Order: sequence, then structure tokens, then C-alpha cells
Amino acid sequence: MFGKICPYCKERIKKDALICRYCHKELDAPQDGNCSSSLWVLAGFMGLFLGAATALGFGYLNERRRWEADTEEVAFHEDTDSNQ
Ligand SMILES: [Zn+2]
Repeated sequence: MFGKICPYCKERIKKDALICRYCHKELDAPQDGNCSSSLWVLAGFMGLFLGAATALGFGYLNERRRWEADTEEVAFHEDTDSNQ
């Protein structure tokens, strides 16, 4: 979108304007974009980190489940052996 709305007089002004051309109020201007973009970068890194952590966690869980399944199978066989 081109431009933004002055929060004081609600007129459409240029996006990078530091002072409203209509009411001449000072605007704390383009920091909004930078702030949100750095937040998105942070969110991206968090997503990557969480994804890696989740992948590692699932890998660990899968290994553990397989190991537990193996031991349960062994225990089951041992039980049936001792019952017979
Ligand atoms: Zn204004």
C-alpha cells in the first residue's frame, strides 16, 4: 500500500513522513516496519529452532519407542516361556 493514515488527523500521508503535512504533528515513522520485520526474523529463527528441536525430539521418541517395543517383546516372550 502507498502511504499511511495520520493517527492525529486521519489524513492519508506518505509512508516515510516524519511530520504530517496536514496537521504538522510529529510521527514516529518508519520504525514500525523495521520492528515488525525484525520480529518476523526472530519468529523465523524461533520456528527453525523449534522445528529442529521437534525433529530431534521425535527422533528420540521414535528410537525410544522402538527400544521399548523391543524390550516389551522380549519380556512378553519371556513371560510366555515361563508360563508354559
Ligand atoms: Zn495529521
